[in-house]
Amino acid sequence: MTKRTSLEEFVDRHRRLFVLTGAGCSTNSGIPDYRDAEGNWKRTPPVTYQAFMGDLATRRRYWARSMVGWRRFGQARPNGAHRALARLEAMGRSELLLTQNVDRLHQTAGSARVIDLHGRLDLVRCMGCERRMPRTELQDELVRLNPAWTDLDAADAPDGDADLESAEFQSFIVPPCRHCGGVLKPDVVFFGENVPRERVDTATHHLAEAEAMLIVGSSLMVYSGFRFVQTAARAGKPIAAVNLGRTRADGLLALKVEQSCEAALAFLLGEPAVAAAPAG
Ligand SMILES: [Zn+2]
Repeated sequence: MTKRTSLEEFVDRHRRLFVLTGAGCSTNSGIPDYRDAEGNWKRTPPVTYQAFMGDLATRRRYWARSMVGWRRFGQARPNGAHRALARLEAMGRSELLLTQNVDRLHQTAGSARVIDLHGRLDLVRCMGCERRMPRTELQDELVRLNPAWTDLDAADAPDGDADLESAEFQSFIVPPCRHCGGVLKPDVVFFGENVPRERVDTATHHLAEAEAMLIVGSSLMVYSGFRFVQTAARAGKPIAAVNLGRTRADGLLALKVEQSCEAALAFLLGEPAVAAAPAG
């Protein structure tokens, strides 16, 4: 209860907030987190940019897993944390919502001042001609080309991936770009790939305009997100974080709330405080 009050006070005290969100924001929407409370990988790290671009077998494996995982990922709906942050924006209090998530659930919940730091999984980009297409369109094509795979079920995994370790990926057909024959890639920033410079610069500009920073559901283990926390700390901006477990920024925080994102932000929706959130 006192922790919730502290966060409410933090939000009250700082009129303009730079909000940075991560996977913890979407776990209650059924999209699992990559990392445990210690910030370690819960399962095998995701595919790297270099492996995806350099190796057809890796792309077969990626798209096969993605095709199976997409069915449920594509149906994920926003939860109270997304709605609370949309409400914060509607109150005129959000300078920017910078999300490391690629699920677009903030936008679905009504947030408009959003930058998708790591891109968006609902688009596919051709690495040859830069054309973009809806992921749903590619899904239809993948299903058409690989009918034998459509009956498979698998546990959900982050980024629409799915565990299919024992399956035979060699038989999986990955279509090329229909315009130029180039390699199709989800329009997200893979591990080993840089966030586009312009995206970083725009977010940095908004950070300079904000009075304080609010981190929601991120352990900040990825540098592309952590860099903004470093920038805020250097500028002397107060930083608060909501996260179940350790974050890389713990030493820089003015306030740390170890609750689920939904419970910690419930006050923004005028809902009574939720008692202790279940751990893990
Ligand atoms: Zn192309």
